[in-house]
Amino acid sequence: MTEGFASRLQPVLDPFALAEALSGVHLIDGQLVASSQRFDVVNPATLQVIAQAADGDAATVDAAVTAAVLAQGPWAKLSARERGKKISLCGQLLQDHVEELARLVALETGKAIRTESRVEASVLSDIFAFYGGLGSELKGETIPWKPEVLTLTIREPVGVVAAIIPWNAPLLLMALKIAPALVAGNTVVVKSAEEAPLCVLRVAQILQQALPPGVFNLISGDGPNCGGPLCNHPQINKITFTGSVPTGRIIAHAAAEKLIPVTLELGGKSPMIVLADADLDKAIDGAVAGMRFTRQGQSCTAASRMLVHRSLVPEFLAKLKGRVDRMIMGDPLDERTDIGTIISAQQLATVQRYVALGLQTPGATLHECSALPTQAPFNRGRFLRPAIFTGLDDSSPVVAEEIFGPVTAILAFDDYEEAIARANTSQYGLAATIWTRDLKLALDAVHRLQAGFVQVNQNVVVQSGLSYGGIKQSGLGKEASLEAMLDHFTTKKTVLLNFA
Ligand code: ADP
Repeated sequence: MTEGFASRLQPVLDPFALAEALSGVHLIDGQLVASSQRFDVVNPATLQVIAQAADGDAATVDAAVTAAVLAQGPWAKLSARERGKKISLCGQLLQDHVEELARLVALETGKAIRTESRVEASVLSDIFAFYGGLGSELKGETIPWKPEVLTLTIREPVGVVAAIIPWNAPLLLMALKIAPALVAGNTVVVKSAEEAPLCVLRVAQILQQALPPGVFNLISGDGPNCGGPLCNHPQINKITFTGSVPTGRIIAHAAAEKLIPVTLELGGKSPMIVLADADLDKAIDGAVAGMRFTRQGQSCTAASRMLVHRSLVPEFLAKLKGRVDRMIMGDPLDERTDIGTIISAQQLATVQRYVALGLQTPGATLHECSALPTQAPFNRGRFLRPAIFTGLDDSSPVVAEEIFGPVTAILAFDDYEEAIARANTSQYGLAATIWTRDLKLALDAVHRLQAGFVQVNQNVVVQSGLSYGGIKQSGLGKEASLEAMLDHFTTKKTVLLNFA
């Protein structure tokens, strides 16, 4: 720890140099620990290998968990406000690294720097600032049970938290887990996603300047051989996961075996309902933002079912396609680029398979938007044209299943009741939006839409302070809020003091 920042880490603005410098190491007990096992990290925009990440196994997990166990007692003994101050300091440190992290995220994940990566890098420090201020909210209650017995509750940390994170918004999704977990007095072992191990490792390295060794450990490796042992480790007291439904089930099984709490942020197939009286231009803005076209649709919240009143469909399609057509696809590190790449060959193949399935539906029309980059080396990259389908029915896999790519469907409906019923047919329940000038209908929809995050006439992303999390197959629990810290990273002890 460097109080006073005598040896403050300097930002490295060359992402290629930084990627290489972060090669082959985990961060355990405050130290960069070299691994003999490694795997390639590939720039999805050019297919060039940019680094080799450390490939962790059960022994790596054990070392990281042991460090977290040893650090947890002293960390929990700090006052909550003191921990909060350290988390606020983390936010300040990250502020100095926004540009560095933005470039590294763009290089590693293929997300365009201006529209996505810099935004994510900026939000990161805000999340630490938000949770840093919540230390004094770790309060209990007094309960009027009997006059001679003082009855109260105390919030305590759960202990050592395992956090398993995905690649689509690695900085943001990691911060939503570690900041509240640490303020609440837990220590953490994070396993990064295979596709995006570098930017989060850099964050871990930066934060060691403010945190005692062992409080925040970061390891990389694959799901079964590194994530599996982490979830099954006997000294893990809580698992928090963001990722796919099948992996969520495996993790929930591991938690069930040990009877420990688990938070799951899983998939989505979010409906966007546009009623006939909607402000169409606002709805188009919402569709562009909501579908996350600038992130190639790689978002669990993506508005991938656009239920549009039949009278509006031709204009909605024309305007939406016009907007996406004007977006520039290309080098994620170029400031002019709006849309970057798909993360991996496997993900690219999955999305292409869904597009092919959509095309097989009689009556379906595919409207491809924007244009692929043609210049080397980006003509080799994992770029894919955003796709808007019309003419699909709700049973199509394109409409029913999560694609996690730049593919959406405009689905015509005739009346409000039909729209609500179709919106709710999904197995998922993460987010939903409705666009109308009729406030009575909007309120009715708010009550009836089966989703954890419902918006009327806007489509903003996760915000610090607002609980975020799904129902149905979209997961268990909430993130991003005070409630998320209290309910998911503390346990309540009931205390009875008898003065009779
Ligand atoms: P995706 O298909 O988008 O990669 P996953 O749910 O498979 O989504 O991956 C999200 C995270 O879960 C990654 O960090 C991955 O390594 C991890 N993971 C995958 N399989 C397992 C598993 N069996 N146990 C623990 N973690 C896993």
